[in-house]
Amino acid sequence: MKQAFVLTLGCPKNQADSDVFSRCLELAGYILSTDPEEADLLVLNSCAFIKPAVDESLETMEQAVQWKGRRRGRRLVLAGCLPGRFTWDESDELKEWDLIIGPGDSAGLMRFLDRELGRKSPGGSGTGPVRYLQVFEGCSNYCTY
Ligand code: SF4
Repeated sequence: MKQAFVLTLGCPKNQADSDVFSRCLELAGYILSTDPEEADLLVLNSCAFIKPAVDESLETMEQAVQWKGRRRGRRLVLAGCLPGRFTWDESDELKEWDLIIGPGDSAGLMRFLDRELGRKSPGGSGTGPVRYLQVFEGCSNYCTY
């Protein structure tokens, strides 16, 4: 059975979103791992509140790409506030990421997992990265994006 690891940065809101992502992964048949090196899929739930938070998210993204490169077939999902705040449309930096979703977009994650498992899903088809963005519903820390 495949294993997944969810890495959460930022505030309790992000932790709550990660709890929902974790449930989605379990529903899709993944076992949640406590060791990223055992995992086949990693979800990075990022923060973009202030510059140090953005820097930490970018640094963790680099580590996650290295993690992917250590074993064939691993999958990477970038979620949370960083993709909600920035776009990299012209960039190569995101080519290792298999899915990019906005904050709390569990529906986007489920569509991706369905596709990964070869199940039919209402949205998305074909290969390559998929990006789903959700209209952000607000932040109790008064972020300005
Ligand atoms: S809601 Fe604000 S503090 Fe929380 S993870 Fe997102 S950017 Fe960071």
